[in-house]
Amino acid sequence: MRSMTRVFRRVSERPILGAHPARKVRGEVSAACGAARRGFLRLSCLATLAALAGPRVGRALSERSDPEVGGRSEEIEPVTLFLCGDVMTGRGIDQVLPHPGDPRICEPYITSALGYVALAEQLTGPIPKPVDFAYIWGDALEELAHRSPDVRIINLETSVTTSEDCADKGISYRMSPQNVPCLTAADIDCCVLANNHVLDWGRAGLVETLSTLRAAKLKTAGAGRDILEAEAPAILELGGKGRVVVFSFGSVTSGIPRHWAAAGNRPGVNLLKDLSSRTVRRIARQVQAVRRPDDIVVASIHWGSNWGYEIPGKQRGFAHQLIDQAGVDIIHGHSSHHPKGLEVYQERPIIYGCGDFLDDYEGISGYEEYRDDLVLMYFLTMAPATGTLVGCEMRPLQIRNFRLNHVSRQDAHWLRDILNREGKGLGTGVTLGDDNTLRLVWR
Ligand SMILES: [Zn+2]
Repeated sequence: MRSMTRVFRRVSERPILGAHPARKVRGEVSAACGAARRGFLRLSCLATLAALAGPRVGRALSERSDPEVGGRSEEIEPVTLFLCGDVMTGRGIDQVLPHPGDPRICEPYITSALGYVALAEQLTGPIPKPVDFAYIWGDALEELAHRSPDVRIINLETSVTTSEDCADKGISYRMSPQNVPCLTAADIDCCVLANNHVLDWGRAGLVETLSTLRAAKLKTAGAGRDILEAEAPAILELGGKGRVVVFSFGSVTSGIPRHWAAAGNRPGVNLLKDLSSRTVRRIARQVQAVRRPDDIVVASIHWGSNWGYEIPGKQRGFAHQLIDQAGVDIIHGHSSHHPKGLEVYQERPIIYGCGDFLDDYEGISGYEEYRDDLVLMYFLTMAPATGTLVGCEMRPLQIRNFRLNHVSRQDAHWLRDILNREGKGLGTGVTLGDDNTLRLVWR
């Protein structure tokens, strides 16, 4: 059944393995940087690295730290971002929130969103519906309060609307606009929207989604009433700590229909035409138009298949080019229902697939080996002066009863082993702390 609930596509290009000139130099100085790798002392090492590493990093560093340009770079503290993957608060989850919308859905096998609630309850027991708006975040709230990240960014993968214009695509994610407090309950700052569910209830549904999120003071990127709004980044001001600039892109490889693309005055998503060098140059111009010296620039991309750990070579090459040529500091990739391997390239993090974060899949079987009930909160700490990664910690949680819960030690071990296995070819691994926090290490 599950294979019918989400669009599944696979791209099978070979990985691009050629070493970037700067990457090669970075490898040569890596031994010297080793001692400082897991702390703020890394910054001085990175400055040395940048001097050696070639034009991209060197230019970025000099632009950021030049007092004539930035003025205050050296005084800016590190910035911590909370990122996660698919937040699918429509359909079954909408039905247990305080203001459920019309449960009708246009799916071939289940015609009411209440069917997904029943499936979950069959597996994991009764959900105390109606739940309050904060319920779904469960133990994640404690973690967010404890870490207090500077910004919180989610891939919101549902239409937020009462539209009856059901798209003919077999899946129908819709959340009632009256349930939008479930997003503000976790103090979310920014919803990226360039994904394959935001237009499940038509262009009218998208327009209502945008106005509902705006009224709730949630920033958005990746979809708009016209092409200009769809392409525009969300700009998150951090007071004295600079800004985080979030671009959101969608790829047809995640199942986004081509006709969902925003164009002219037509509402839609910010759809990538392809992952070519030409597209990179186009994005580079967009970044250049808004970037300030101490900005952290995020490229959030909905791409690739729902299942499987393979990272297509085209994705990897595109991510590298965005970092090398477009001034992007963080690649926030999503679409896979389970976490994939991570990479650190030019000292900048690449999350190829975050995995799901909140969904109504508990009663759906078919891909158990991927354990998509296990999800990760990603906390990336970045140095604004250099745009480089200071540290990456991940907190595992489990979706159960439509709520995020602490994981068992055994499940934390399982995730550690998966991330180590998948990170091996990408030069990363993780360590597992006594509190079940996973910490990224990279060479
Ligand atoms: Zn998706």
